[in-house]
Amino acid sequence: EAVRVPEMDYVFKIVVVGDSGVGKTQVLGRFARDEFYFDSKSTIGVEFQTRTLTINRKSIKAQIWDTAGQERYRAVTSAYYRGALGAMLVYDITKRQSFDHVARWLEELRAHADNSIVVMLLGNKADLATTRRAVAREDAIEFAEEQGLFFSETSALSGENVESAFLMLLEEIHRVVS
Ligand code: GDP
Repeated sequence: EAVRVPEMDYVFKIVVVGDSGVGKTQVLGRFARDEFYFDSKSTIGVEFQTRTLTINRKSIKAQIWDTAGQERYRAVTSAYYRGALGAMLVYDITKRQSFDHVARWLEELRAHADNSIVVMLLGNKADLATTRRAVAREDAIEFAEEQGLFFSETSALSGENVESAFLMLLEEIHRVVS
């Protein structure tokens, strides 16, 4: 018996940006495959991962792009941003500098991506909050409010809030496009 393949209603391109080492690849892996990679990412070498889910009874394919290390050389090209409807702007809550650079990443997004792009600020490595926090949650919330961004603290390691953050972003994109 044939299996009916449901039609895809939408494909949403989402880009993940932020300083090198903040956990972009791990966050993506957690959402797309519910995995955390304990080995080096250099072996992965893929440009994007996808996950299909249902939002408001629509079948949505989230196509999530990873910079694949280009951000280290500030070589993220405009092709990377092209067609993106959403962005996860990631910093590391244990690394102040990665938060200080968030404004620069936002400028980059605003320069290269579509005006209506939905941006979510993610403070990652929340599992280290009790011992190594270097960015107050309040500072991030204040910045997000000023700039009109969604905000969440996540841990790719434990999985905390990763799913809900992506769902929030995807729901907002769906609201914007429909
Ligand atoms: P990227 O350069 O932004 O893509 O960062 P990676 O995803 O390669 O992660 C950089 C380092 O941070 C790796 O050693 C990861 O194992 C670690 N890492 C990523 N996410 C988390 C997290 O949520 N918690 C902890 N404790 N470590 C993390």
